[in-house]
Amino acid sequence: MTALIIDSAASAGHPVPPGHPEHQGRYDAARAALEGVANARWLNSRAAVRSELERFHTAAHIERVLGLTATVSEGDWAALDADTQVTQSSAAAGLHAAGGVVEAVDRVMRGEGLHAFCLARPPGHHAEPDRAMGFCLFNSIAVGACHALEAHGLDRVAIVDVDVHHGNGSQCLAEVDERVFFASLHQAPLYPGTGTRKETGRNGNVLNIPLPANTPAAVWRQHFEGEVLPALKQFQPQMLFVSAGFDAYADDPLGGFLLQDVDYAWIAQELAGVAEETADSRLVSVMEGGYDCPALGRAAAAFTAAL
Ligand SMILES: [Zn+2]
Repeated sequence: MTALIIDSAASAGHPVPPGHPEHQGRYDAARAALEGVANARWLNSRAAVRSELERFHTAAHIERVLGLTATVSEGDWAALDADTQVTQSSAAAGLHAAGGVVEAVDRVMRGEGLHAFCLARPPGHHAEPDRAMGFCLFNSIAVGACHALEAHGLDRVAIVDVDVHHGNGSQCLAEVDERVFFASLHQAPLYPGTGTRKETGRNGNVLNIPLPANTPAAVWRQHFEGEVLPALKQFQPQMLFVSAGFDAYADDPLGGFLLQDVDYAWIAQELAGVAEETADSRLVSVMEGGYDCPALGRAAAAFTAAL
C-alpha cells in the first residue's frame, strides 16, 4: 500500500531564535528518516489560500500573522506570543504547512493513496481561530479537517491528537462543529493547561485523556485502546486525521511520556484499522511536536512505515 508523504520545503524559511526547541533540525531529522520508508510517494505541499484558512481562522488572525511577518527586518524576529517568533519568511512556512494538509486531503479523496503523512514545520495544533500560540501559526490539521467537510462534502471527520501537549486549537473546531470528533491523550499538568476530562464538546464530540508524567507506555495504550478506539468506532468518521506529535516519546526534552518506536507503530496500525473500518481507509497524519531530533526521526519513520 502506497503512503503519500506531503513534503514542505518552505519549512526551512522559518528560522527560530537560538536555543528555541522548534528548529529546522527537526524537519531535517524527520525527512532523513522518512526517506527510508519503503513504498512512499513524495509530493510537494502548496500554500493554503485565504479562503481555506478562513474556514477555521478569523480574518483578523490571518492579517496579524501575514502583516507581522511582512514588517520584520531581515535577520530579526517578531513575537506573536512568548513562544512563537516569526521572521520575514515564516508566513510561507505556515501557509505551506496548512496547504500541505489540504493537498493531502485532496489526494486521499481522489484515491491517489489511502494514507498521507504531512511533513512540515511549524506545528499547528495549538493555534486557535484568533490566536497563534505554542510555536503554531496556523492550525494545519483543523484547516485540513474543514477542507474535507466543506470542499469534499464529508459529514463526519475525526482528529486524534497523540502529541504530549493538549491540542487546544484543534479542540476549538469540535467545540463549534458537531461534525468533528476530537480526541487527545496528553500529559497534565503541562502546557497549555487545557484538556480536562470535563471538556466534552457538543454532544460528547470531545474526549480528553490527561495523564501524569511518567505514565508507562502500557497504561497509555490501555487508555487509547479502551477509550479512544471505541469512541472513534462509534463516531464513524469518514476521514481520520492524526496530530502526530512525537514529543510523547521517552527521550523528549519537553514531555514526560514514555512511548517508543514500537508504540508509535502500534498507534498507526490501530488508527489505520479504524480508518479501514469506517472511512474507506482514508487517513491523513500531520507532524506536530517532537523535540529530540533522533527520536523524532525514529518515531516518524516507525509511524509512517506502519501505515
Ligand atoms: Zn507537543
